[in-house]
Amino acid sequence: MGSNNVNSVIVVGGGLVGSLCAIFMAKRGYHVTLFEYREDIRTAKFARGRSINMALSNRGRKALRAVGIEKIILESAIPMKGRLLHDLKGRTTSVPYDALTGQCIYSISRDYLNNVLLTELEKYPNVKIYFNHKLMSVSFEDERISVMNLITEEITTHQADLIIEADGAYSTLRRYMQLTPLFEYSQTYIQHGYLELVIPPENGPKMTPNHLHIWPRGQFMMIALPNKDNSWTVTLFMPFGKFESLRNAAELKDFYYKTFPDAVPLIGEDLLVNDFFKVKPSALVSVKCKPYHVGSKFLLIGDAAHAMVPFYGQGMNAGFEDCFLLDGILERRSNDIAGSIEEFSRERVEDAYAICELAMYNYVEMRDLVTRPSYRLRKFFDEL
Ligand code: FAD
Repeated sequence: MGSNNVNSVIVVGGGLVGSLCAIFMAKRGYHVTLFEYREDIRTAKFARGRSINMALSNRGRKALRAVGIEKIILESAIPMKGRLLHDLKGRTTSVPYDALTGQCIYSISRDYLNNVLLTELEKYPNVKIYFNHKLMSVSFEDERISVMNLITEEITTHQADLIIEADGAYSTLRRYMQLTPLFEYSQTYIQHGYLELVIPPENGPKMTPNHLHIWPRGQFMMIALPNKDNSWTVTLFMPFGKFESLRNAAELKDFYYKTFPDAVPLIGEDLLVNDFFKVKPSALVSVKCKPYHVGSKFLLIGDAAHAMVPFYGQGMNAGFEDCFLLDGILERRSNDIAGSIEEFSRERVEDAYAICELAMYNYVEMRDLVTRPSYRLRKFFDEL
């Protein structure tokens, strides 16, 4: 127990899942300390290079609602009521997600979401946030972690009643857990990378609104999600070998005019060439492990526990659901931390494995199967 018989909790990672989890814990009245490796993104000069916008679904909304911030998030989100499929001739087909009741997913800026979460977290007097602080090492024996202040390079050690690791797909705690007996772990990199492009605000209104646009092309695909400023974030998923084969502007333009002809005037040739060659494509990893806890204090959540490929749009949503479920278990067990993290771990693993599998499957669905009539779909499964 921390002071005055109030539980103390350390959250490592102030990304989407860590900051939401810290809010849940602060709302419970726990003393919360959050360590985040990066500087405060609300004042940072450079944005990070990972998906600019995200699909928020009911799973994630439920968690945001529970801490009272769903409304403010949805006000800045754009509903996507279905997929809009682009064929090779630039013809489009709308496929609603839910033609009966009109349920939809929402496109929301990653940074805006993280900003709102951190700002909400700061409202709680029982919270301390330390940016530029990196988890360096973990001792399960002493139930301590070591954290480095990246500005002063000072290393300090910390203890708490509960230590939650939301430090993403390359989690430091998870590396330590891999050294403990009976911990199961596997990671899979797919042979496809991704790269982000943009349709600028002046061309955004030419896109059919309120859809998640997909250019499915069998072995690869491109998608686009809308932003509030009328621009669209475009993500190209392709085998690394294909990225490497496009060596200069001429080869890239030739490929684009043949493969995504209707997208070229929307992105613009110059911007396409500039953005394509600006950064290298990023890798996509899927992580499965179990259990999610060690002893009576340490717990993995979010991508640290179950990173998945992004094709189901559920990584963040599942991480948000982790926070919601953990809070519910702590509530039901009257803040019995040891029992709660053991129960969370036991109950969550199977669902997390399932969603990792679904995400992997949905890659085939999005880049290929969406274009096939159902009889070919059946044949595809017969051939598997
Ligand atoms: P992260 O977002 O990785 O945050 C981890 C945080 O921990 C970071 O802030 C990092 O700086 C910090 N950290 C790391 N190491 C340390 C350390 N040693 N000490 C202190 N801090 C540390 N999900 C969806 O639900 N919908 C989508 O549409 C969607 N689209 C995606 C598109 C792409 C291209 C990709 C790659 C992913 C997408 N995802 C989507 C998945 C989503 O991005 C992740 O599931 C989500 O970001 C996980 O959040 P997290 O907080 O667990 O991890």
